[in-house]
Amino acid sequence: MPPVFDAAVVGAGVLGLAHAYHLARRGLRVVVFERSPKACGASIRNFGMLWPIGQPAGLMREIALRSREFWLELLPKAGIWHERTGSMHLAYQDDEAQVLGEFVERSEGAAELISPTEVASRSPAVKTAGLKAAIWSPSETCVDPRQVIAELPAWLERQYGVQFEFSTAVSAYDAPTITAGGRAYASQQLLVCSGDDFQSLFPEAYAGCGLLRCKLQMMRSQSYAGRLKLGPMLAGGLTLRHYKNFQDCPTLAAVKERVARESPEFDEFGIHVMASQNGLGELILGDSHEYNDAIQPFDKPRIDDLILEYLHTFLNVPDLQIAARWHGTYAKHPKESYLVRQPAPGATCVTAVGGAGMTLSFGLADQVVSQIVGESQRAG
Ligand SMILES: Cc1cc2nc3c(=O)[nH]c(=O)nc-3n(C[C@H](O)[C@H](O)[C@H](O)COP(=O)(O)OP(=O)(O)OC[C@H]3O[C@@H](n4cnc5c(N)ncnc54)[C@H](O)[C@@H]3O)c2cc1C
Repeated sequence: MPPVFDAAVVGAGVLGLAHAYHLARRGLRVVVFERSPKACGASIRNFGMLWPIGQPAGLMREIALRSREFWLELLPKAGIWHERTGSMHLAYQDDEAQVLGEFVERSEGAAELISPTEVASRSPAVKTAGLKAAIWSPSETCVDPRQVIAELPAWLERQYGVQFEFSTAVSAYDAPTITAGGRAYASQQLLVCSGDDFQSLFPEAYAGCGLLRCKLQMMRSQSYAGRLKLGPMLAGGLTLRHYKNFQDCPTLAAVKERVARESPEFDEFGIHVMASQNGLGELILGDSHEYNDAIQPFDKPRIDDLILEYLHTFLNVPDLQIAARWHGTYAKHPKESYLVRQPAPGATCVTAVGGAGMTLSFGLADQVVSQIVGESQRAG
C-alpha cells in the first residue's frame, strides 16, 4: 500500500508552503515534495518584501492584503524574524514627483505624500538633497527569505503534521497515484507549485498561453548592524515603470520616455532599484529583468554596476561591500497576475506570480484551497 494523503504539494517554495499551510489548517493530511535537498528557487532568492503597495487597487491589492494578514499571523508563531517597516518611494525628477502625486490621489488612502524632513526621520540613510517628492505606505513587511524557506517547513511539520519529502521529484500523477522519487504515493489532490518549471508536469496546461521566464540579478551587502538602519524598504524613481499600481498615472508615459532617452540601458536590462534590510543588518539590493531568450546562465557585471550607481543617487551607504551576488528566475504571464490551471482530475497548477510571489502567496493559496476543498466536499 502506498502512503496515503488527502493532498500533495509539489514544490517547497513559498507558494508550495502557503498551499500546504492552508490545506493543513483545514485538517487535511498533507505531503510536500521538493526535488532539491532544500528549496532553492525564486523564493529563497528574493528581497523578502511583502509589498501590497505594488499591487493595483482592486482584487490584486485585496489578495495581497489578505496574504499579509496570514503572514503576520504565522510569522510570530513560527518564530521567524520580520519587521513591519512600511515602504517609501523616492522621486528626484519632476515627472516622477508628478506620478507619485497622481498615485496618491488614486490610492484610496494606501499611501501618503511626505516631506523630505519626514523621509529623513523615517530613514536617515536617504539622500534628501534634490528629493522632489516621496510617498510613505505603512503596509509593507520585510522578511528574510533564507530564514522563511529554511524554517517554515519544520514549523508546518511540528504544528500541523505536514510531511516533507525533500530530494524527491514528482514525475507523474494519475489520480490518485503520484510517482515521486521512484516511489508511489496516493492523494486525491495534487497542487503543483513548481515555479518556473512548467515542462516537467502537465506542460500542456501552460502550452501556448505566453508564459515567460524572467531572470533577475541581486546583491547583498555586508552587515550594517548598529551602523545604518534603513527603516522602510525603499524604491527609487525607476520603480514607477515597473509595478502595475502606477500604470493609471497619466505622467508615467513621460517618465518612461525620459528614461528610455536618457539611460536606455535601464530599459535594455529591465533595471529598477529597491533596497531592504534584513534582521542581520544586511542590505538586499536589486534588480534587473531579462526574459526568455535573453536569459543566460552567466551574470552581467554591467547590470550590477548600473544598480549600484543608481542606488548611490538616493542612498548614503558608507563603505558598501558586496558580500553576495546571485540571480533568480520566475514565471510570469504578460497579462495575468497569476495562473491557476486544472489540467487533469485532482491536479491544480498554480504559477506565474511573477515578482510578487512572496506578497501574494498566502492570500492566493487561501483562495485556491477554498475552491478545491469546497469542490471536493461537494463531490463527496
Ligand atoms: C530575485 C527575485 C526577487 C524577488 N523579490 C520579491 C519580493 O521582494 N517580494 C515578492 O513578493 N516577490 C518577489 N519575487 C518573486 C517571488 O520570489 C516568486 O514569485 C516566488 O518565490 C515564486 O514562488 P514559487 O513557490 O512559485 O516558486 P519557487 O520558489 O521557484 O519554488 C518552486 C519549487 O518547486 C520545486 N519543483 C519544481 N518542479 C518539481 C517537481 N517536479 N518535483 C518536486 N519539486 C519540484 C523547485 O525545486 C522549487 O523549489 C522575487 C523573485 C526573484 C527571482
